[in-house]
Amino acid sequence: MIESDRKRLMKGVRRVVVKVGSGIITSRSHGLIKERFAAIAAQVARAVGDGREVILVSSGAVAAGVAAMSLRELHGIPMRQAAAAVGQSRLIWKYEKHFQEHRLGVAQVLLTQDDVANRRRFLNARNTFATLLALGIIPIVNENDSVVVEEIKFGDNDTLSGLVATLVDADLLLILSDVDGLYTADPKRDPDARLIGTVQSIDDTVRAMATGPTTREGTGGMITKLRTAQRLADLGIPTLLVNGTLDDGLTRALAGDKLGTLFEAAGVPKAAKKHWLAHVARVDGVLHLDAGAVAALRDGKKSLLPSGITAVEGHFEMGEGVSCVGPDGREVARGLTNYGAADVARIKGKKSSEIEAILGQKAYDEVIHRDNLTVL
Ligand code: GLU
Repeated sequence: MIESDRKRLMKGVRRVVVKVGSGIITSRSHGLIKERFAAIAAQVARAVGDGREVILVSSGAVAAGVAAMSLRELHGIPMRQAAAAVGQSRLIWKYEKHFQEHRLGVAQVLLTQDDVANRRRFLNARNTFATLLALGIIPIVNENDSVVVEEIKFGDNDTLSGLVATLVDADLLLILSDVDGLYTADPKRDPDARLIGTVQSIDDTVRAMATGPTTREGTGGMITKLRTAQRLADLGIPTLLVNGTLDDGLTRALAGDKLGTLFEAAGVPKAAKKHWLAHVARVDGVLHLDAGAVAALRDGKKSLLPSGITAVEGHFEMGEGVSCVGPDGREVARGLTNYGAADVARIKGKKSSEIEAILGQKAYDEVIHRDNLTVL
């Protein structure tokens, strides 16, 4: 990829997930490194000023907890979980303090694997992120380390950040790490090792490069990054790996400077392929729409309101995938429903202003929000 292509790609990035590795914000001896938080907050604020939406996925809870409790070693899972619980609040407090200097609010979002596997929680999480971003608040995500059991852990924040990028329909995953990018060999051992600027597709040759110890933590670091980049590339989302300890690394990366390693998306532009569609592969019910609702969905900007629904089929809960068909029986759209089948049956044909009186409460005006809907 030539430099101007990188610039063009970065110019089109509106929503970016920035993954911050423990290695760049913590040190064994000092715990959380103040200057790094200040630098990240300043650069995120600049990105926001440029009209971008930023979601941070930050590690560092365990490391901060270990430092706060003056532990020398971490023995066993309960101790690790205790350290995460102690460290997470310190981590967020640090971010809060530094973002405040730029008049930006932050929000803590702790996720577990269950939250994305369960459709209801997946939709809830999506809606929460959308609301936070609309309010101009920076979500700061981590795994809910203190409650999650080992078997169902994301395990590492590379994987988590990939899922978050999918969840929020990001245009880019930017991984800030303590390495410069992907090298052809271990640069500490091989004087001929070269930094790879762009990876078009992650094949066996590329994977073989990750077997050397490329990060302080060893091999796992690069392998999980490649796996995440691969998954996102398939969904049309590029991943950029840059050294987060560089001055203005985040800003320069977003400006399109040729830093780090860019893993290109597999050709499918993000807008054309909604990533979450994978979650709607299974359809649990059918909503029959009148001609007005079909036209409203087809025009590309409207949500599905209860008033346009004429009949409901199937048993489904909030958050599940439903198919929308027009009066001619043809499928027009698919989406994630805000209301279960029983509730839709009661509010169909009604105005959104009547939902509360009918159901006793109203969480949403729309049965399917535009953001959670794909017109076929
Ligand atoms: N969630 C862990 C923490 O905050 C980090 C996991 C990782 O380093 O990938 O300490």
